[in-house]
This record gives sequence, structure tokens and C-alpha cells, in this order.
Amino acid sequence: MPPSFPLLFELGSKPPKPTLRDVANLVKRGGPGNLIALTEAERRADQATYQEVTCRSALNAVKGMPFKWTLNPYRGCTHACHYCFARRYHVQFEMDSDDQFASVILVKHNIVEVLTRELERPSWAREHVAFGTATDPYQPIEGHYKLSRESIRALTRGRTPFGLITKGPMVVRDIDVLRDHANSAPCTVYMSVPTVDHDAWSRLEPGTAHPLQRLRAVRQLVDAGINAGVIMAPIVPGFSSARHKLEATIKAIADHGARFVGCNIMHLQDGTRDHFMRFIGREFPAMKPRFERLYAKKYAPESYAKEVKAMVRVLQERYALTTREDATTERSATADPIAADPEQVGFRF
Ligand code: SF4
Repeated sequence: MPPSFPLLFELGSKPPKPTLRDVANLVKRGGPGNLIALTEAERRADQATYQEVTCRSALNAVKGMPFKWTLNPYRGCTHACHYCFARRYHVQFEMDSDDQFASVILVKHNIVEVLTRELERPSWAREHVAFGTATDPYQPIEGHYKLSRESIRALTRGRTPFGLITKGPMVVRDIDVLRDHANSAPCTVYMSVPTVDHDAWSRLEPGTAHPLQRLRAVRQLVDAGINAGVIMAPIVPGFSSARHKLEATIKAIADHGARFVGCNIMHLQDGTRDHFMRFIGREFPAMKPRFERLYAKKYAPESYAKEVKAMVRVLQERYALTTREDATTERSATADPIAADPEQVGFRF
């Protein structure tokens, strides 16, 4: 029998909560219907299951990226974007990159305490932290736990610069702590708005707020003095890559006062690739051969990327938007986890 763990909101004396590794082992032992193992996790009204886990470290050291540290209070994401590059990470927990990525969310309940300890170490060099690289820090459960909010406060106390990427307009709740942070160290909010096209949004990002709601959040952040802009991340060939869609998106971004705009094009790897191809095969079977050709490798062909990057540049100039590099200096240019991948955008599919 696998050991059981306490209910998410259990009161009273609490046995230790499982670590991420414990959860992976438990789920693995649960067999084919592996969620059997999480018998005491809580299923909430959004139909997702939330399991509190104990993390041993908060800051995660990374190599080969333009930043050295990442921070993710949650794992899994109910925003459920079909292209999400983080889907493949859920496989590390013996869960799948399909429904379980979006419906079994691990909550690092002790992350603020651990983060505070790490930031207080004399050896901590106050290097840039990329916040939200494997999950959205402002997915709905943040309204309950406030782990992202409290993590920002810990980063402020530790005078540590960060860049945060989200699709969650809930970030405006934390304007007060973001402003406080800006007085002690740089911070940038990257709102991810791949497109304002209604169909592309509703098909590709079923759990997210409407793109215009996200852009209104950008307006609020900028008006409050926060360095905030938009990353069109990712542009998905065939869904959001047509020129008129790119123009509508960039115009809307400019209309909402974003300080910068950047973009990348979808890439597909491991579990993300498997999920996306299954999604396309199921919902848009006629498009599948084209996706298989375009994504014979992890990235779409460079020629495709170059062509569309040039057009985005034209549109940025037309609407007087700078790129994030121009607008926000070296520290925030490196803050966006998605920016670490080659920038690619597309017009034709
Ligand atoms: S909001 Fe971000 S982390 Fe969440 S599913 Fe979408 S792309 Fe992935």
C-alpha cells in the first residue's frame, strides 16, 4: 500500500508532506491509473486536483540559458495551453503531458520559507531569477495560496532582480509588492499574449483569460509604474501566424501601453510534441501533415523564422513598439524563459 498524505487543507497536527520525488514514486506505484496514488489530494471546483508537496530547494540552478536561476511555486498548469513547452516536465513526476499536466497541480507549500533561507545565504550573489519558467505563477490557485505574491516579497527582502512571465491577469493584485520590489531591485513583468485572435485563443489556450483581459492587466501594471510588456509566446503556425493576425495583436499591444513586445514561435519537444500532435490529429486532422513537415525537428525551419521575424519588426516599427531588449536593458532581456529559445514567428503555414 502506498503511504497516504494529508488533505490539502487539513487542519490540526500534520504529518510531513511528500516531496516532489515522493509524489513521482507514489504515482508510479499507483500503476496505469496512476492518480490512484494521490488518494488524499484535493479536487477543487475547477476539476483540478491539488497536491501539496514539500520542496527542498526553491531556486533551481539552470545551465545553458541566459539566466542562472528559476523559481516555480507550482508544477502543472490549469491554463492548459496545448503548445505549452512545460508539458514535458510533468513526465518527470510520472504523470502525462496531456490532461494530467493541466489537472494535477503540485503546490510547493513551503516555497517561501525555503526561498527566504536561500536568499539569506551569504553566498547568494543576487543574480537574476526567472520566475514562472515551468508553470504559470498566476494560475487560479494562486488566488488561494498567494505563494507567488509572498515569493516576490521574499525577493524584495533579498534585493534580488527578477523577470516574471504569466498569462494571469491576477498579477495586478500584486501591484503593491511589485512596486515595493522595484525600489530595491529591478523587476519586469512579461505578459504572455500570443495572439488576440479569438478562435486561436479559445482553441489553443482553453484555461486562460481572454487576451484583451491580459492586455488590460498590462495597462494597469504600466500605469502603476511597473516595467511591463508583452511576449507573443508562442506564435503558432497556422493559428496565429497570418499577417493580419499578427498586426491585430501588435496593434492591440501598442494600444494598451505595453513598454515592449517580443515574440517567439512554437517549438515542440518530447511530451509537448506528443501532446500537441495528438491534439492536432484529434481536432484539426487536415493540418497534421503540415505540422509534421514543419516540425520535423524541434524548431520550425530557420528560413521560416527569418521571414516572419522581419515582418514582426516592421509591425513593431509601425506601432512604435520597441523589442524587449531595446526597452528593458540586459537584465530583463534575459528574464524571459521563452526568450532563451530562438525567436521565430511566422506568416504562412
Ligand atoms: S500559461 Fe504558460 S505554463 Fe500554463 S499552460 Fe499556458 S504556456 Fe504552459
